[in-house]
Amino acid sequence: MNISESKRLFAKAQNFIPGGVNSPVRAFRAVGGDPIFIKKASGAFIYDENDNAYIEMINSWGPMILGHNHPIIRESVIQAMESGTSFGAPTAREIEIAELIISMVPSVEKVRMVNSGTEATMSAIRVARGYTGKDKIIKMIGHYHGHGDSFLIAAGSGAMTMGQPDSPGVTAGTAKDTLLAPYNDLESIEELVRLNKGEIAALILEPVPGNMGLAIPIPGYLEGLREICNREGIVLIFDEVMTGFRLAPGGAQELYGVTPDMTTLGKIIGGGMPVGAYGGRKEIMDFVSPSGPVYQAGTLSGNPIAMAAGLAMLKYLQSHLETYGQLLNIGRKVSEGIKKINLELGYDYTVNHVGSMYSLFFTDQPVTDFESAKKADTGLFGKYFQAMLQRGVYLAPSQFESLFLSTALTDQLIDKILKAHRESMNEIH
Ligand code: PLP
Repeated sequence: MNISESKRLFAKAQNFIPGGVNSPVRAFRAVGGDPIFIKKASGAFIYDENDNAYIEMINSWGPMILGHNHPIIRESVIQAMESGTSFGAPTAREIEIAELIISMVPSVEKVRMVNSGTEATMSAIRVARGYTGKDKIIKMIGHYHGHGDSFLIAAGSGAMTMGQPDSPGVTAGTAKDTLLAPYNDLESIEELVRLNKGEIAALILEPVPGNMGLAIPIPGYLEGLREICNREGIVLIFDEVMTGFRLAPGGAQELYGVTPDMTTLGKIIGGGMPVGAYGGRKEIMDFVSPSGPVYQAGTLSGNPIAMAAGLAMLKYLQSHLETYGQLLNIGRKVSEGIKKINLELGYDYTVNHVGSMYSLFFTDQPVTDFESAKKADTGLFGKYFQAMLQRGVYLAPSQFESLFLSTALTDQLIDKILKAHRESMNEIH
């Protein structure tokens, strides 16, 4: 495959942009080789600068749940553009999207729009701290909540991939207020709560973590967290930036029937535009300025173009609930197909799957938390990634990420993915 243009652009980019990219994992450091530079995308495909086509398995890290450049999103953006790109003043669309989010996500009674998942999580913990008058938060090892200082401690996703789970630049003062627990381990939460009695403002987690690769909550885990938080007066925050509107219209909280106090959202909520949101119980959200004392603001928050794209996406999902059955089918066909081929070839690698998210871990041990995820053979993953890329399948360039499938994947494309998988497995072993 000729990727000469990508190579040229990457060499040039490194002169002007740190590492040549605007988000670290894009540099392909964990998998070797040069990143491909993308010219355009449509449906199930992205195209690089040499016009090579790749079947999309990441979909911009989640937002493009209907595939790329979907007409309903494109048309909503073009139409909104006719009236101007930013006003920095309230608009009717913001009320419409707030009402829609509230009608879809069980925990959300009031919601504030921001510009990214990072802003959503940073703001949510500030509000939880303001509301409770306490400083400490509990976070799970290997979970990723964006690049806010409080979260870059034992962080997953790119931080884990780049070997930088604890970033320089985060002060010791900030880090001391982030308490760490392994995912899927209620006893460790009980222990932290005992040791920090009355000092914990919030417990934040990805209910279904995708940032150490995909892991699944063990039965009773989310319910157990809910009980502990109720008992101790801790604000339970589900970070559903990945899972929101993906695992169900109301996200993981709907799928697992556990309602947090606050929820953070991103990715799908903007239909591919830079949007995030945080919301929750009225009583808590009324602490946000100007109705309450906790300050949070944004020049471009509620941007009219971004709101138009988000509204088009959410309206579509709410009025096409069959999408979720479709996504589950696609997720099953891909993940079960991969597992079956592996077994035929004699490899019992772990495949975690829920809805349209899955991860193939190069380990035969179950992956339920950060420690077990780390057992995966990242060198082998890198070879697999490259073998799939050569065959025109674009995976997340890290073992420690989930894949995000879209409704644009037809049976014919799934067959192509599985064929590429079989050939790649044969090539790398
Ligand atoms: N929270 C979760 C669960 C995420 O997966 C991400 C990003 O991948 C974020 C927060 C941060 O979102 P953003 O990259 O939009 O700042």
